Amino acid sequence: MKTEHIPYKIYLTEDELPKAWYNLRADMKQKPAPLLNPGTHQPMKAEELAGVFCEGLIAQELDNDTAYFPIPEEILTFYKMYRPSPLVRAYCLEEKLGTPAKIYYKFEGNNTSGSHKLNSAIAQAYYAKKQGLKGVTTETGAGQWGTALSMACSYFDLDCKVYMVKCSYEQKPFRREVMRTYGASVTPSPSMETEVGRKILAEHPGTTGSLGCAISEAVEKAVTSEGYRYVLGSVLNQVLLHQSVIGLEAKTALDNFGVKPDIIIGCAGGGSNLGGLIAPFMGEKLRGEEDYRFIAVEPASCPSFTRGVYAYDFCDTGMVCPLAKMYTLGSDFIPSANHAGGLRYHGMSSTLSELYHQGLMEAVSVKQTDVFKAAEYFARVEGILPAPESAHAIRVAIDEAVKCKETGEEKTILFGLTGTGYFDMVAYERFHDGQMDDFIPTDEELAAYRSKLPKVD
Ligand SMILES: *Cc1c(COP(=O)(O)O)cnc(C)c1O
Repeated sequence: MKTEHIPYKIYLTEDELPKAWYNLRADMKQKPAPLLNPGTHQPMKAEELAGVFCEGLIAQELDNDTAYFPIPEEILTFYKMYRPSPLVRAYCLEEKLGTPAKIYYKFEGNNTSGSHKLNSAIAQAYYAKKQGLKGVTTETGAGQWGTALSMACSYFDLDCKVYMVKCSYEQKPFRREVMRTYGASVTPSPSMETEVGRKILAEHPGTTGSLGCAISEAVEKAVTSEGYRYVLGSVLNQVLLHQSVIGLEAKTALDNFGVKPDIIIGCAGGGSNLGGLIAPFMGEKLRGEEDYRFIAVEPASCPSFTRGVYAYDFCDTGMVCPLAKMYTLGSDFIPSANHAGGLRYHGMSSTLSELYHQGLMEAVSVKQTDVFKAAEYFARVEGILPAPESAHAIRVAIDEAVKCKETGEEKTILFGLTGTGYFDMVAYERFHDGQMDDFIPTDEELAAYRSKLPKVD
């Protein structure tokens, strides 16, 4: 085995940790489309967003020009408890695959939330606290975001109300208890607690819920409770901004060893880890300094990039949120109940959508049985039991490394390993028992959802 003096794990010193978040939008010539007011179809102003979101976060959301936002001291301190996250050279995986490719992954699973979500949760809780709020509301699908936010809220002594997609609530009771350990209240969604929840239940009795429904409930709860605001763990520009710590750390670590990745791969649910991982690299590409291939990986059962349309759509099922221009399947879209691999959101970050639209990024979709095959293979070779979401990126990283074996190219591959899968054992069980199927929506099904997109010109 060739080591080239590159260690298995590259850590940074405290001095090398990023002191500012990088805002990719500042280097985009064509900016992402603005959020629109769902009533007037005019760009949302800060005042209009202020009833729903925290002030400090709105400023970040709407700022397309400031390249660097200094990370407040309190957040830097919290980051130091679990960052830097290791950048791992996957020597064992390379050897097992027999590939000349060099594979690196940035592992975000070394904190109690088990994912990268804590990077933004702590920032969002900080701005809520700074504004003097009592608490925040949110939704969670697989549960990582709810867990991260409950940790962040307990650190800043804020109340935290989580609407958890019902099928996850039932499948992942331990996630719920982790959130409660950190003091959050957890309600299965749709619930009878909100008007929108009651409406969705009346229209779709027995529904197992979706992220879109849970978002609507959390937003309603926030705007009807004094001293509360709503926070979101993905999709929004501010979340990509906070997640830029992933890419900034990875880039410094690689630069320290003179390594330049050829291909950067990440899974895409709402786009936050991918947007964060690629941020500084994409910045170089946008400024014409370097070139990289970027690949977004999504589930074939929820294929926003690869089979969605680039259009204004609602961010939630209840249609209470602003309209965002993004690659979307339609806000009514609910992936098959059989889909266990996370990444279930109908839309996609508008920043990544614009980059994809401009051809600066690629996207591929993968079937869930192939994803779990990659997850199991990776667990056995590299030791880490990956979250199913993360395994989407593993799948494509392995596929690209195998292509290098065929062509003899020594490409350098970097992928985001967003988290661990300890709470996903029901999904793993289904895979092991051969009960996992690949439900892929038909063109007709997708067209039906698409026909309900709002008309915006
Ligand atoms: C939430 C989550 C994702 C997907 O969200 P993005 O916003 O697309 O990054 C991926 N992996 C893990 C482990 C997650 O918790």
